[in-house]
Amino acid sequence: MHRLAIAVEMPQHAAIGALLDYESEQTLPAGTLVRVPLGKREVPGIVWGAADEAVAPAHALRAVIEALEGLPPLSSSWRTLIDFAAAYYQRQVGELGLSVLPPELRRSDDRQLGRRLTRLLREPPAPTADTAPPLAAAPALTDDQAAALAALQQMGAGTALLHGVTGSGKTEVYLQAAARALAAGRQALVLVPEINLTPQLEARFAARFPGRRLVSLHSALTPAQRLNHWLLAHLGRADLVLGTRLAVFASMPRLGLIVVDEEHDPSFKQQEGARYSARDLAVYRGHLEKVPVILGSATPSLETWQRALEGRYHRLTLAARIGQGAMPRVRLLDTANLPRTRGVLPALAAPLLAAVQERLARGEQSLLLLNRRGYAPVLHCHHCQWKSGCPHCSAWRVFHKADRTLRCHHCGFTEAVPRACPDCGNLDIAPLGRGTEKLEEQLAELLPGARIARIDADSTRHQGALERQLTAVHEGEVDVLVGTQMVAKGHDFRRMTLVAAINPDGALYSSDFRAPERLFALLMQAAGRAGRDAQQAARSEMWIQTANPQHALYQALVKHDFEAFAASQLDERRRAGLPPFSSLALMRAEAREAAVATAFLQAASEAAAVVPEGAAVTLYPPVPPAVPRVAGIERMQMLVESASRPALQRFLAAWLPALHALRPRHKGLARWAVDVDPLAI
Ligand code: ADP
Ligand code: ZN
Ligand code: ZN
Repeated sequence: MHRLAIAVEMPQHAAIGALLDYESEQTLPAGTLVRVPLGKREVPGIVWGAADEAVAPAHALRAVIEALEGLPPLSSSWRTLIDFAAAYYQRQVGELGLSVLPPELRRSDDRQLGRRLTRLLREPPAPTADTAPPLAAAPALTDDQAAALAALQQMGAGTALLHGVTGSGKTEVYLQAAARALAAGRQALVLVPEINLTPQLEARFAARFPGRRLVSLHSALTPAQRLNHWLLAHLGRADLVLGTRLAVFASMPRLGLIVVDEEHDPSFKQQEGARYSARDLAVYRGHLEKVPVILGSATPSLETWQRALEGRYHRLTLAARIGQGAMPRVRLLDTANLPRTRGVLPALAAPLLAAVQERLARGEQSLLLLNRRGYAPVLHCHHCQWKSGCPHCSAWRVFHKADRTLRCHHCGFTEAVPRACPDCGNLDIAPLGRGTEKLEEQLAELLPGARIARIDADSTRHQGALERQLTAVHEGEVDVLVGTQMVAKGHDFRRMTLVAAINPDGALYSSDFRAPERLFALLMQAAGRAGRDAQQAARSEMWIQTANPQHALYQALVKHDFEAFAASQLDERRRAGLPPFSSLALMRAEAREAAVATAFLQAASEAAAVVPEGAAVTLYPPVPPAVPRVAGIERMQMLVESASRPALQRFLAAWLPALHALRPRHKGLARWAVDVDPLAI
């Protein structure tokens, strides 16, 4: 009998070791998928290696039920990636390793998998001549692109930041770098922030590489598709893998290139379970497998930017848009002295309204951005000051006029709008503030005859709705598009010559130190929607309605000057000791009573005092997050900071076991978790 150490998914926060020992009649190589007994259940597992023979098992070992022998084992570099990610994000190896495999694979036994593999391998290795899309020839490179590709070739393994505005030809660089990897017999992995962006990119890659097999990996695939695509990557039969953050864990035996497009995008960070950053893991994976990593963005994250400044990443710049298309002119519309009606600004100040009307007259399109969906953020009674709060959350319920509901955007609690004030019976309750629905309604009054459309999370709830609405915009069936940040990303609107941010100032006063960085990225990206046609570029504009036109963020935006913006932000971060000049972890605790969550965090803080590694970190007092109560659960958080990333890692590894031990003493604690390198504070 052979003893094996196997990674299995154990109950969250179980205080047992990372791997469990089993025995098996055959020797099974590390990386083999198996099915094993755990308690009364049969669960999937991954052989991680031979068990330590020197330690006599305390009890008889249970036997492996079966091995999925039809499947080649997961490689040692894949396992190293999982080991690293589990240690870094403080999760168990089995939990992380299994959770990133396709769910259908975790459920399969050897027979089911065998049948699927037979079917899959019968298919031709790549699209045939009549199924392949038309070939798109590579254009002659611009000087900047040629220089970037030459630098990439010289770099070999390593990480490069490809910095260039929308339309500067970054995707073309990805395509040609991928062509090189494929020509060398390797596979390429391309990560994008959103599922919605995969079809466009997929089409572009498919047209460039007609003889190659390309698969996508994201959560909107059916379970069977996701398994097939994963298997094709794992078997080395897919040359190109395109996917969202979870694809960073794709098993690729011939990996030769990793691209992370829009590397600054927050959706690369997983927001539950193992809160990993796919961007950061891509960099680690590139280092591990000695392959080049390209991080592309018009507005790199300040972490990435700082590394590029320090020379740890190669900085490659695409300085201009392809084909002389200029970036739109940015105009700051100072709202401070504009006329108001009963203290309220009109939806569009007169000059902006005139600019939209001008576009209408010329048959061009305008995009109005407002980052608040619904009709109004709150309903209000002027008589007794009642407001439409959510009974389960510390948040207002948003008024949605279309179906006359009050909806909580945090817990989803929805009710019909009351006829009268629930507190005093006043019939005159009114919406306060403005959301996309209201803006759409007001525009209809301001612009009679204009075709107005709205795209936000409400208008796109049904499957296929977003694609339909985007197509309508592309086909010119829409004159004025109202939308949230959803529309600012990636879509290529050829006839758009005006983009306006209606009320972006909120982010300037946010308690989250990353809010300005996100706003700048959003506005730059939105500006990139306008004037993509060279002939239109000259009259393309981006308008910002703001009460703070002098703010450094807007001043940098006017000059499209990311470097100036980054320099001012990095300066603030350096002085405040914030990332990238320090490393953070956020300890979160949740309970029905805030006091329980606070008590746990306080006990955790006391436990830290006796951890020797604690000397290198600072623990801040527990505080509530911006929305402390959601769905009846109170949340508290505690920031852990260190000047050194390895020191923070050592501290967390030493501290967390003490917290597992603490937990039983805190009755009523719903859960706790640590978020390493948190994005939202
Ligand atoms: P980005 O990814 O930075 O937004 P793209 O690579 O999509 O930029 O390029 C913008 C547009 O310019 C695309 O339509 C692309 O086909 C075209 N393009 C890119 N590189 C070249 C080139 N060297 N010559 C001509 N057209 C190019
Ligand atoms: Zn009232
Ligand atoms: Zn709620």
